[in-house]
Amino acid sequence: MDFDLEQFCHGIPKIELHCHLYGTIRKNTFIDLNKAAGSPLNKQEIEEFYFRGEKPIGVLRIFRALDQYLIRSPNDLYRITSEYLEFAHLHNVHYTEFFWNPTGTVKVSKIPYLDATNGILKAMKDNEHKIKSRLINSIDREASSESATEMVTWMIENKNPLVIGIGIDYRETLGPPGNFIEAYNLAKNAGLKCTAHAGEFGCPSSYIKTAVEDLKVDRIDHGYTVLEDELLLEACKLKNLIFTVVPSNSYYLRTLSPDEWAKKHPIRFMKSKGLKIFPNTDDPAFHQVTPTKSWMMMVECFDYTINDLQEFVLNSIEAAWLNNEELKEEWRTRCNNYFESQKSVHQ
Ligand SMILES: [Zn+2]
Repeated sequence: MDFDLEQFCHGIPKIELHCHLYGTIRKNTFIDLNKAAGSPLNKQEIEEFYFRGEKPIGVLRIFRALDQYLIRSPNDLYRITSEYLEFAHLHNVHYTEFFWNPTGTVKVSKIPYLDATNGILKAMKDNEHKIKSRLINSIDREASSESATEMVTWMIENKNPLVIGIGIDYRETLGPPGNFIEAYNLAKNAGLKCTAHAGEFGCPSSYIKTAVEDLKVDRIDHGYTVLEDELLLEACKLKNLIFTVVPSNSYYLRTLSPDEWAKKHPIRFMKSKGLKIFPNTDDPAFHQVTPTKSWMMMVECFDYTINDLQEFVLNSIEAAWLNNEELKEEWRTRCNNYFESQKSVHQ
């Protein structure tokens, strides 16, 4: 029997821990939101947002447009969350921890924190029979460090068990992690989990070092430039930090030529250096990727094997912040059963 990688990767019981809510919005939904807001964006702008060329542009300006014009009520957040969860479920993602940036929603879209959160949480609860989910509030690193501590304060004042931790995103070159030590301390002391985007835009490994040593993160998003610093790499291994990598990440596609990007991409080398990684979609609608495809890319672009994919699933289970060892053990059994059954079919 021929091996069908797509079918195989689709069937993997997957976990996603690095996906931005605003990066999941379907084109039709985007068009609807634009219409409802009085069409502040023209058709061509929207087309450009959803066009991914050989050297794709980043998605951050799309997120700014969403804050500024399109997300206007908790119902909008409910809709996009429901649609993301439905999409992930269709690709056999059974658990997700996804990012949302409250600062832009509250300050720019002018939706109060609790109302906005309730819109997202309602969608999470309504879809729980299909997919389990947790929310990670993400710091806008292009905003001030005061905005970051303010956001963490909102979380503490409105504590909810489904809002599990904090992250940090937007353009790393404009917001080094050292700016946000206070916000991270506040979150840690309140029992929240912490992750950070670091070493994404070719930024120096010292940013990852700050995230590990000063922000005391529980895992790392991207983290590619860790490979430049042997001591840091060993420290990450000692701390058992897991890296949520993104095969479709725009930076390397943009900066490396089409015939060398996959050969030189750090994702290819991270596992052999002893790091624990697993693939994620990040901004699936704009990267034009699915959970299935991001797992396929690990094999197709970076030459990982089916056994590697099995390890990646186990890494994702370990990296999940859900505090339920019994359930995690069930997930491990489900993963191992899936891989064993597929191996016996294809031998
Ligand atoms: Zn990201």
